Amino acid sequence: MSTSEIPLSKPDITDLEVQAVATVLRSGRLSIGPAQEQFEALCAARAGRLHGVACSSGTSGLHMALLALGVGPGDEVITTPFSFVASANVILMAGARPVFVDICPRTLNMDPALVERAITPRTKAVLAVEALGNPAHMDAYEQIASRHEIPLIEDCCEALGTTLKGRPCGSFGRAGVFAFYPNKQITTGEGGVIVTDDKRLADTCRSLRSQGRPTPGTPPPGSGAAAALGTWLSHERLGYNYRLSELHAALGVAQMRRLDEIIAKRRAVADRYVQLLAGHADVVLPTIDPEVGMSWFVFVVRLATAYTQQERDRVIDGLRRHDVGCATYFPCIHTLPFYRALGYAPGDFPIAESVSSRTIALPFFNTITQREQEFTAQTLELMLQRENLGQR
Ligand SMILES: *Cc1c(COP(=O)(O)O)cnc(C)c1O
Repeated sequence: MSTSEIPLSKPDITDLEVQAVATVLRSGRLSIGPAQEQFEALCAARAGRLHGVACSSGTSGLHMALLALGVGPGDEVITTPFSFVASANVILMAGARPVFVDICPRTLNMDPALVERAITPRTKAVLAVEALGNPAHMDAYEQIASRHEIPLIEDCCEALGTTLKGRPCGSFGRAGVFAFYPNKQITTGEGGVIVTDDKRLADTCRSLRSQGRPTPGTPPPGSGAAAALGTWLSHERLGYNYRLSELHAALGVAQMRRLDEIIAKRRAVADRYVQLLAGHADVVLPTIDPEVGMSWFVFVVRLATAYTQQERDRVIDGLRRHDVGCATYFPCIHTLPFYRALGYAPGDFPIAESVSSRTIALPFFNTITQREQEFTAQTLELMLQRENLGQR
């Protein structure tokens, strides 16, 4: 088969999205407008939450959620080393210390018993990630956090549309954060949203997102409507420009309206990979519990424990030489140089490290063809055969 490159991911953009963005351009209102409000309402509703706060990225959303909870220097936040780096970076950005705990080898999320054991008087929050979109243990973290009266932040950046025991992702703990980079289930180009039932937290995040301005609609006591209108140059705290433009928000509204269609397409792609790869002795497929309604983010397989990281890397090189886009989701966060500087070292979290050294993310997007998936599976098998013949 002669191939053109099969990308690792690709957004699903139709004329509806193009028209929605063009409408904003023609309207002349390019920031802080109706599209943002609509997008926030759609995201909050999907997560079963009262409030949504749109922002410039998942990272800025997580950063603001931590700041709104008062997380700062001297505090500890418990989190996972097996995630995209942003989920731990936001803890550093808030000036606090990430306290990593190892993962459960089946679900790849933090082992709940280890979370509970890591709690100290300095623990200010638990930041739990749905790694690779799997919501496993979210309800357990929620119970642990509430038992210890510590807020849980849900990094659901990879889990938009997923449910656990009928509850939507984004509904666990004090607040959840979704992200909309082009490789996520839906995209705004760049963007994020905080979802919560806590109005105070939502208002604080709205202020942080826009240069620390007083939240519109809640003028300080004693000031009238005129004061609320004049708040553009009033700043009550250190804030950021973490806003989402109307162009991005309108794109997000159009994508949210297609979310169920998009989830169904992605499920069909995942099902086909399972059919193609099931029963292969050297390939471990994602484990999804029956109580999970999965909205697939990526399709990540693991090589069997006999494989070394170098062998995995050679398999990936081989796939790429055959124009199959793939990636190593994720390198362990605690082994990055700026986390080692905090005292972490390879060997600290053996399960996360063992999993991380054997993962391969396969091409995964709505419009991938059956032929492309078959070619991917065949090429993977070929590369594994080569490792077996060459090395063992
Ligand atoms: C994508 C992602 C984020 C945030 O990503 P942005 O690129 O900042 O939107 C955070 N955490 C996880 C686990 C993610 O996958």
